[in-house]
Amino acid sequence: MRVIHHGSHAHVVWSKGIAEIPTIPAHILDLASKFQRPPNCYALTVLLTTRCNLACNYCFQNTASGSPLTPSRIPGHAITEDVIDHMVRFAGQRMREGGFREVSAVLFGGEPLLEYKAAEALLFRLQSLNLVSATLVTNGVLMTPERLEGLVAKGLRQVQITLDGDREHHDAVRVWRGSGAGTFSTILDNLRYCCEVFDVDFMVRVNTRLDNLSTLNRLIDQLAETLPRERVHIYFAPLETSSVWAGAPMTSERLAEQLEDLYVRAVVSGLVPVVSPSPHGKQCVFCSRMWGKLGNVISADGDLYSCWDSAGQVGYRVGDVVDGYSQTAECAKRWVQCGYQNPCHDAESQAWDEVMRRVEPVVLHALQDLHEPNSVNAGIDKAVSCDGCA
Ligand code: SF4
Repeated sequence: MRVIHHGSHAHVVWSKGIAEIPTIPAHILDLASKFQRPPNCYALTVLLTTRCNLACNYCFQNTASGSPLTPSRIPGHAITEDVIDHMVRFAGQRMREGGFREVSAVLFGGEPLLEYKAAEALLFRLQSLNLVSATLVTNGVLMTPERLEGLVAKGLRQVQITLDGDREHHDAVRVWRGSGAGTFSTILDNLRYCCEVFDVDFMVRVNTRLDNLSTLNRLIDQLAETLPRERVHIYFAPLETSSVWAGAPMTSERLAEQLEDLYVRAVVSGLVPVVSPSPHGKQCVFCSRMWGKLGNVISADGDLYSCWDSAGQVGYRVGDVVDGYSQTAECAKRWVQCGYQNPCHDAESQAWDEVMRRVEPVVLHALQDLHEPNSVNAGIDKAVSCDGCA
């Protein structure tokens, strides 16, 4: 959904064409678009470290079962100054070859805030390549003002934090490595505090699965009660690395209805919705074009991978930032695309896009309802009376 403002009205470009609507306050819709990667911009995803302080049971970077609270990880690396040097040089060269004048960066992991000083150094160095967008993807438990301050000073503008359901559900899944303690309160405390301190856009990505759907109304309420609502974007994302959709096709009426209800409830609760088609598969800026034409996924040791899903995984390296992509037949086989470990990925992606196409206009109408004079209470009544609300 894209909004073009024209004074007293706006055009909304959405999956079914272009619609004219009364202007919705800019803080609602302009902010949502900030989470989209800027166009015509070289894209980097950098794993600052492959280590993580949490032990989520579905994590695609956990490699073995063992103790559920200390699962084995992909090989552990933390980025060094030397790797940052080579990385910036390599990206600059690729940008010149491709005619790119700007770069965007996603700081990824593992948990990138374990290496926040290195993240600062990286953002500083990327300014020489004209850094126009920097996003941090974090689990949120280390997200204190002390750690964010230097990053914001060096260009960080968006932060994405993941939740797995309401407090109870999240705390059963997103647990500290070793102790197994829940993380919900710590994340919300950090988020609330950082919202007060920094003029940065925060997005809560809600991993959306069949087994947590029934908890998400409660989560919306908990977020709306705890956080400065107009500062927090909310995005319900399908979790593809588990069998969360098994036995219940995403195109089902029930699922679409539940998503609609969730988004409407989020809107009338004052949270800012982000609705987008699945970012995976053919559209992915990293894995959809071979040999890093549009961007690179770079692990903490400087190795190159085709995709976020394979980053750091043994057997999927396709080059490094010193020697570039190894464009051999062997590496071509390792050039996997998003969801490569999930045999149902393509069908799930398409089904998700269909659901989103259905949900998008509902969100749009909810926003319109909400911002028409005297309609706020009507909107809230509609949300609290929907099926399944806590
Ligand atoms: S916080 Fe992220 S990287 Fe860490 S275990 Fe959980 S899913 Fe994996």
